[in-house]
Amino acid sequence: MVNQRATPCVASKALARMTSKERDTLHAEIMARMVEDPDTGCLAWTGPKGSRGHGTVNLGSRSQSAPVYRVLYILSYGPLRSRDWYLHGPCGAECNNLSHSRGVGPAAWNTAQAIADGTHVGAVTECPAGHPYDKENTRMTYSVKAGKRRPQRSCRTCLREARRERYNTDPEFRERSRARQREYNERKRQGLTKTA
Ligand SMILES: [Zn+2]
Ligand SMILES: [Zn+2]
Repeated sequence: MVNQRATPCVASKALARMTSKERDTLHAEIMARMVEDPDTGCLAWTGPKGSRGHGTVNLGSRSQSAPVYRVLYILSYGPLRSRDWYLHGPCGAECNNLSHSRGVGPAAWNTAQAIADGTHVGAVTECPAGHPYDKENTRMTYSVKAGKRRPQRSCRTCLREARRERYNTDPEFRERSRARQREYNERKRQGLTKTA
């Protein structure tokens, strides 16, 4: 289910930079802040929570904070891509027990499953990688589905990440970016840009 070769998400990258000892310590620290429901085995997080109410773990900076279940998943099973969603089980988003989850899948699957379970949260306030969909981090883009243009929110942190990755790995993209920048600089020099 997890493609190791594809670009890992921000949290996966942050965790990959840690030593295995640091990862073990982090895992132990996370588990120490979980409270297990004796009847269901559901694990509730007692640490800090994000805008959507689920637990978050800070992995170094604001852009690297991630949902606690996601961090646990990566620590246990390896890296995820930004588009891989952690799929909560029927017990809902409050539970961080990995064995209660449905694993990892695309966002559409997650939504469909949540609707089927009756646990769907209409207002999604974070991107799949756990970055806030707030004013400064959200960019409206369009997706084209069945010939229809639909507005959608995109996470600036993830977009920036993807662009940087592409810039570093795709020479053609890098050349196009540089050409655009040169063109822009030239127009600016001639006083043709709106902002100049
Ligand atoms: Zn559970
Ligand atoms: Zn994001």
